[in-house]
Amino acid sequence: MKKSHGPAFRKERVELAPCSACRGKAVVKGVFFDLACDNCSASGWVEALTGNALPADELVTQLSLRLQAAERQIQEMRTSRAMGPEGIYQEGNRRGAGGTTYTGD
Ligand SMILES: [Zn+2]
Repeated sequence: MKKSHGPAFRKERVELAPCSACRGKAVVKGVFFDLACDNCSASGWVEALTGNALPADELVTQLSLRLQAAERQIQEMRTSRAMGPEGIYQEGNRRGAGGTTYTGD
């Protein structure tokens, strides 16, 4: 992972904002078809602080971080929904048991 340019070694999370030119759609309406938005490198996202498009290599990483976070969220939502009734049951059970094993502090 050697890069010859830039401080790209450290992967910091960059705050992204939807591109104002295409409103986050990554494309703008052309006459006959949608055109890639060049304000945001056709990503739909710009750097929140500056409003500039990120360089492509940085953009890929930032989008990946964002996607991973989103996937985690989806996964959590799925999991919590899947064990919804069971979770409520366990909650009631714990309360009913009066904390026999769980003493808090
Ligand atoms: Zn755009």
